[in-house]
Amino acid sequence: MIVVMKPHSSEESIERVMNFLEKQGLTGHPSRGVERTIIGVLGSVGPWGAPGGIGGINPSVESALEAMPDVESVIRVTKPYKLASREFHPEDTIITIPAACVSGGRVYLGGNAIVMMAGPCTVESEKQLMTTAEAVRKQGAVILRGGAFKPSTSPYGFRGMGEAGLKLLAKARAEFGMAVITEVMTPTDVPMVSEYADILQIGTRNMQNYMLLDEVGRSQKPVVLKRGMSATIEEWLLAAEYILSQGNRNVILCERGIRTFEKATRNTMDISAIPLIKQLSHLPIISDPSQGTGRRDLVIPMTLASIAAGTDALLIEVHPNPDEALKDGAQSLTLDQFQALMPQAQTVARAIGRTMITG
Ligand code: PEP
Ligand code: MN
Repeated sequence: MIVVMKPHSSEESIERVMNFLEKQGLTGHPSRGVERTIIGVLGSVGPWGAPGGIGGINPSVESALEAMPDVESVIRVTKPYKLASREFHPEDTIITIPAACVSGGRVYLGGNAIVMMAGPCTVESEKQLMTTAEAVRKQGAVILRGGAFKPSTSPYGFRGMGEAGLKLLAKARAEFGMAVITEVMTPTDVPMVSEYADILQIGTRNMQNYMLLDEVGRSQKPVVLKRGMSATIEEWLLAAEYILSQGNRNVILCERGIRTFEKATRNTMDISAIPLIKQLSHLPIISDPSQGTGRRDLVIPMTLASIAAGTDALLIEVHPNPDEALKDGAQSLTLDQFQALMPQAQTVARAIGRTMITG
């Protein structure tokens, strides 16, 4: 259920609604827009709490809310996800990420300007990371990617440098002023990874790891939630709802390809998910054409397609020597290819009336 307050309602009226909800055992999630406040109402949520959601709300609560001062209307949300829905938050959510390399020291993700996140799939060494960071920053990337805790399909694959990798990412941030995005795999690692990262990445394999979603939801760090490789759009938005319902509003969705019958590419990049998510949700949507295709020669075309489809950012794997990469070399761009990509990306962004943040 959503309570729509009248434009410019008083704080007192908003407080009154919030207190009323609390007395009913419900949680109000206010969203303050320029003109008006909208309050999302949920039943109690929490790992082992009472059943929540719209089914748990007594209909008499609805009429009581409608009669309260400054309440314009009460709307039932038909979608199973509530806080993630456009109905709850009609304006686009814009997420602020600190980055010293950008004038003003902040990157805004979800607005008109498109953000480039680039770096190696996995942090392998100081030299590999610093060389890549310097090169991608020079071309206009403002967020540095790099895995320190890597999910590996095979237990014999490289699983990352762990905290030593995080320390290198922090060093690169200090040197180049880029924000850092890196994956967190377990709830217990969230506080430690948060010390180093500006954005927490939830990988495709963990999209439905609900304890992990709860834990990043209790943090205030921006979270990139990758689409599960076999997840429907609805399952993905419900995973986002886990994070939002714990109080973290800084959720960014990432299309990274899904499993289909096709074997010519590692995954099938679902470009239609980008405009569809924009319709269904207010959350920023970004695109990862590296995992999305698994093929370096397809990364530039799919980057351009993602921009044309409305992506808010790109997450791209780049390596100084992809043939020797410990992970995902086949889909990593060379430094030269990344250099070639940036002006093309800017041209497509301009063609659809958007810009790119380059610092
Ligand atoms: C990655 O970004 O390197 C990665 C492992 O992503 P995904 O979880 O989408 O496979
Ligand atoms: Mn990778």
